[in-house]
Amino acid sequence: IRQTFDIDCIPLMFVISKQQPIPEVANLIFNEDDPQNPDVKYLMNDALKTAEELQPHYWKVLMGEEKPKRCGKCAYCRYTNNNPEFILPTQIEV
Ligand SMILES: [Zn+2]
Repeated sequence: IRQTFDIDCIPLMFVISKQQPIPEVANLIFNEDDPQNPDVKYLMNDALKTAEELQPHYWKVLMGEEKPKRCGKCAYCRYTNNNPEFILPTQIEV
């Protein structure tokens, strides 16, 4: 919105977990100018820096020049893991 319309907005997110039987719901606000929560500005800048660092890789994945990196945790990675490695029982995340 800032790049297209030159308007500064406070980002909001309305999120819901996948917990069963009762999902958790949260409404998130990212107000960088809130003096009560100075960490928000740091978190937003850190996230922007991370996005800028990862952007070249994502672009190459979109262009078919690089393979995507598997996270090993999402539904797609779990669904497509045809050759799981042996791990110790202590490595299982609960
Ligand atoms: Zn994944």
